Amino acid sequence: MSLWDKIRGWFGSSGSTDEEDGSAFYLYIACERCTDLVAVRINRQSDLAQRFDTNTQSVSGYELHKGVVDQRCFRPIEVVMTFDAGQRELSREIIGGRFMTREEFQAARAAPSESS
Ligand SMILES: [Zn+2]
Repeated sequence: MSLWDKIRGWFGSSGSTDEEDGSAFYLYIACERCTDLVAVRINRQSDLAQRFDTNTQSVSGYELHKGVVDQRCFRPIEVVMTFDAGQRELSREIIGGRFMTREEFQAARAAPSESS
């Protein structure tokens, strides 16, 4: 098995390792240019930045800025998300790609490549 196959295997595994849990969640992204698929694991501890309310001196919410690069055209995709103080999602934006649901992502993964 080549290194490339190993790398693809990490992203392509369909086991239970990509289940969401309390400390992390997944974003499913399709590149806008080449339509390559990328699953990005977001660690709530290390990837989310706190936003402080200067009036109350407490955490008012969280935000995420994540650069994503797919494996086909290597064009950077930028993800910006905001969360409330309980880390519930408030908004999400993406530049250079589009968000997919987990179901869309897995269906696209399973489908044969449409090269014709
Ligand atoms: Zn791409």
